[in-house]
Amino acid sequence: MHGGLPGEIRQAVNGSNGTGSITWPESRRFAFTIMDDPDGQHLPTTRLVYSFLADLGFRTTIATWPLEPQRQTNSGGPTCADPQYRALLQQLKALGFEIGFHNAAPHSATREETLKALELFEKYFGAPPATMANHYNQEAIYWGPARLTGWRARCYKLLTYRRKDPEFFGHVAGHAFFWGDICRERIRYCRNFVYSNINTLRSCPWMPYSDPIRPYVRHWFSASEGAQGPSFVKTIQDRNQERLEEEGGASIMYTHFGHGFVNNGKLDPEFRRLMERLARRNGWFVPVSTLLDFLRERKGAAILTNKQRALLETRWLCEKLLRGTS
Ligand SMILES: [Zn+2]
Repeated sequence: MHGGLPGEIRQAVNGSNGTGSITWPESRRFAFTIMDDPDGQHLPTTRLVYSFLADLGFRTTIATWPLEPQRQTNSGGPTCADPQYRALLQQLKALGFEIGFHNAAPHSATREETLKALELFEKYFGAPPATMANHYNQEAIYWGPARLTGWRARCYKLLTYRRKDPEFFGHVAGHAFFWGDICRERIRYCRNFVYSNINTLRSCPWMPYSDPIRPYVRHWFSASEGAQGPSFVKTIQDRNQERLEEEGGASIMYTHFGHGFVNNGKLDPEFRRLMERLARRNGWFVPVSTLLDFLRERKGAAILTNKQRALLETRWLCEKLLRGTS
């Protein structure tokens, strides 16, 4: 039915990109991980969620703000300036979890503040972050309409006009918020598009990929929708787990464990049930950068073509309009 399409688009539409043939380590049948941003988290929530994940054998990625807030914040959630929270992250790292970067602080940060935050990160965790996800700070990199190209960027601008979003400058050389060169030098992977399919690799067969027109990010990756408790639970429901395993795919769930996973000090029962079910499957449960390093080694480093970029962007824009994905 897609006979007229160029091969790479046909492959992406069908999902028959060879991802089914990936042989996962340790005879695992699929891969599953989580990229968790700290927005709205409180220490008891972090403790509860991560002891649950650790007990089940998951080893995922938790992104953090290393810098103490210097002014009014734009989000709730802890930073590494809290010694108890920092100690908890260090314990998680020792257990095999990955600590990622969510920009410098829960407010826009200048280049100097980002540099300071990355120094602190290295001091606290022993190495620069391998993985990052933009927070909605003005130093976010290739964010807002800059996630998209051509008509799609114009369309996005029109659609979000009423929201009065801030502008983003992390990739704009010479701007006070510019840090693209530092990002490229120190950070391996940056999250971009989020899709509704649990099998992230099916929505984005090329990840991790580099994009020649967005050179300040070394490699990009996509994720699957789970920004809040209800959308997370919807994406990992039983039949989707089964399909992920059947397809031999890879899932990188995008989330905020601070939003809708814990009520009155207890884990949401449906989240608990589904994660316990997933843990019993024969999956490879490693942090985001471990999974992406493996894919890069196995498939080679992908450089996005114009057609592939158009496909990823159009699909994301359509899903955002139809389903409100992140
Ligand atoms: Zn955030």
